[in-house]
Amino acid sequence: MNVRPNSPAARDIAHHLHPYTNWRRHEADGPLIINSGKGIYVQDDQGKEYIEGMAGLWCTSLGFGEERLVQAAAEQMRKLPYYHAFAHKSHNPGIDLAERLADMTPGDLNHVFFANSGSEANDTVVKFVWYFNNALGRPEKKKIISRIKGYHGVTVASASMTGLPNNHRDFDLPIANILHTECPHYYRFGQEGETEDAFATRMADALEAKILEEGPETVAAFIGEPVMGAGGVIVPPRTYWKKIQAVCRKYDILVIADEVICGFGRTGEMFGSQTFEIQPDIMVVAKQLSSAYLPISAVIISDKVYDALADNSAKIGTFGHGYTYSGHPVAAAVAVETLKIYEERDILSHVKAVAPLFQEGLRKFADHPHVGEVRGVGLVGAVELVADKTTKASFDPAGPVGVQLDKRAIANGVILRNIVDSLAFCPPLIITDKQIKELFDRFGKALDETEAWIKAEGLA
Ligand code: PMP
Repeated sequence: MNVRPNSPAARDIAHHLHPYTNWRRHEADGPLIINSGKGIYVQDDQGKEYIEGMAGLWCTSLGFGEERLVQAAAEQMRKLPYYHAFAHKSHNPGIDLAERLADMTPGDLNHVFFANSGSEANDTVVKFVWYFNNALGRPEKKKIISRIKGYHGVTVASASMTGLPNNHRDFDLPIANILHTECPHYYRFGQEGETEDAFATRMADALEAKILEEGPETVAAFIGEPVMGAGGVIVPPRTYWKKIQAVCRKYDILVIADEVICGFGRTGEMFGSQTFEIQPDIMVVAKQLSSAYLPISAVIISDKVYDALADNSAKIGTFGHGYTYSGHPVAAAVAVETLKIYEERDILSHVKAVAPLFQEGLRKFADHPHVGEVRGVGLVGAVELVADKTTKASFDPAGPVGVQLDKRAIANGVILRNIVDSLAFCPPLIITDKQIKELFDRFGKALDETEAWIKAEGLA
């Protein structure tokens, strides 16, 4: 890239450290600078338009430029730009949002604790789980089991639960008491002749074996995303969660649904827990909670968990956890408005109406010479490229093909996300039929160009 001195790109390279970026490659390649957005589209600093096929980072559900959210923020800013919820203080946006979330979520998830990101919320979950078992007088019951390829964030405890090598390697993680069980990816880990249901049984058996090996009295919780997102959009077999949950119940292990991506319509129901029949004791939401217009996340707990925590806080004198910005009133006001918009515009019916076209469109790429698997549910999906479709062998090394496809997609005007050699799709929930066709037209071109590149490079 030709970077002019003192240009925004040069200043970015000089001073801006980017999350999830190869910093040396960034010095050479520079940033893609996005300056504005409208609906599902964003524009870069050269005026080129892209479909935001990932809703940013799986989050801008209502797209860009939703004026009602801007208004909600401005009004709250004027009225009360900041207040907190420590030591019995409260404010109306926090009350309204907590009540709405308690109403919307399934079962007796009735009590809401706010944080500012998915990572913070999941760190809070770890502390809730530990506190819960101390409160119940079983201090040995502390281990939390998550999954290989699960994604729960990057703070020390949440990165430990994340099951991806890049989040552990050289960060000295995971911390103690966080364990990982099998990843329910049938295409990759299903055995010859095994049905999806039998595979799900094997996954649940593996979890049970791990619990027994560790001692059930030491295992406190199981955490998982209904559909794994950042690990590659991995949709588990339909019967997976039911079987996993039965194992957890058998050993008095809390079930935690990380709905940071799935929450608020992504899978075609309000929560992924409804799509996959999970009855969680704790649910974590973020991202689409505010359509990402401001940072906010929430941990929603059942009556049972609440009672134990509340009793212990009374015993100690305070619940010694919380953030300056827990339930920030401006973020909360924007989240309340987001949830109102979902309801008023019936976002669920919209997702249900367009999801079949999205899933069928995605599956048309399955015939491509190097597409090994197409997977997805609702308005989230992925296309995985492989070196050999028959043997499912990945490219060696894994990664460059995904990077190439991602670059070709950008050149063709669609922003997606490469996860090794899979390309993830997670468009704003407001996407229309016509825009879905446009998204796949642009991606199809990128895929054809990548196919030519694979041949030219002699990669397969
Ligand atoms: N959980 C899940 C399921 C996520 O997808 C993410 C973010 N991609 C997180 C937690 C972490 O959220 P944040 O980046 O806001 O810390």
